[in-house]
Amino acid sequence: MQDPREAFDLDGRIAVVTGAGSGIGRASAVMLAGAGASVVCADLDGDAAKATAGTITDGGGAAEATAVNVSQSPEVDDLVNRARRDHGHLDVMCNIAGIMHNSLVVDTEDADLDRVLAVNLKGVFYGCRAAARVMTEQGFGSIINMSSGAIDTPAPTIVCYAIAKAGVAQMTKTLAVEVGPHGVRVNAIAPGWIVTGMTGRHFTNPDGTIDEERFNAVSAPMRNAAPLGRVGEPDDIAYAVLYLASDASSFVTGQILRPNGGLSIP
Ligand code: NAP
Repeated sequence: MQDPREAFDLDGRIAVVTGAGSGIGRASAVMLAGAGASVVCADLDGDAAKATAGTITDGGGAAEATAVNVSQSPEVDDLVNRARRDHGHLDVMCNIAGIMHNSLVVDTEDADLDRVLAVNLKGVFYGCRAAARVMTEQGFGSIINMSSGAIDTPAPTIVCYAIAKAGVAQMTKTLAVEVGPHGVRVNAIAPGWIVTGMTGRHFTNPDGTIDEERFNAVSAPMRNAAPLGRVGEPDDIAYAVLYLASDASSFVTGQILRPNGGLSIP
């Protein structure tokens, strides 16, 4: 048996993380680097990506930053191909960038649907495709896609988001079947309700501080419905990313992992 600490050791591994400028992507980039990986931090906001890479390098880890718009396939191809060219291989691809949009189906504009699908569905597809091309050729790699608990729990106003995330789950299963024989694993994570910029817009003051009263009011339904009695932090998801990136999950592919405090148990 492999030493358990070695099984989670990412020393010498190269990881690309999209959405690394904030929230779950940022926590995942820091987590992977903490386990020894060299991380390419990519985000629409290049300065935010740089800040994450700076946190990693300040702590003695290895990271670089780049701006990318995941809805543009040439940019995603370039991100992945550059990582492989610069480092010689690509071990981990985390497709984490995502956006939220709220509207009832009857009120949804074509442009809103297009925008959400372009980032949350096609952006993940582009990341999967680019990484799968590189990883099947080299004969190893782990692709990790960010889905959502929204695939299990229908809720009003999140239709664009939910159908994109359901597509991510199905994309994950299909790709896992295609690339497994080439030594490549593909899994998705469907987080519960996590305190990040995405959810924070409901309880963050204009100066960036958290309005505790609004936070408690907004998070109470999720907290109270979860058997573990709390909502999640970005690190709760980053630990799942670490597991799926590491040798500890070497027998795991095509799965949807649900770190959600038990909020939904399908
Ligand atoms: P977040 O804090 O808003 O982080 C999302 C990051 O993605 C931001 O840095 C954002 O940059 C970036 N991004 C947006 N559009 C992009 C694009 N076109 N190209 C590249 N980067 C882009 O949100 P989060 O909660 O950490 O979300 C991370 C992922 O987890 C998302 O896929 C989300 O759907 C998923 N998720 C979140 C929750 C939750 O409760 N928070 C639950 C389930 C799933 P900008 O800030 O510049 O827009």
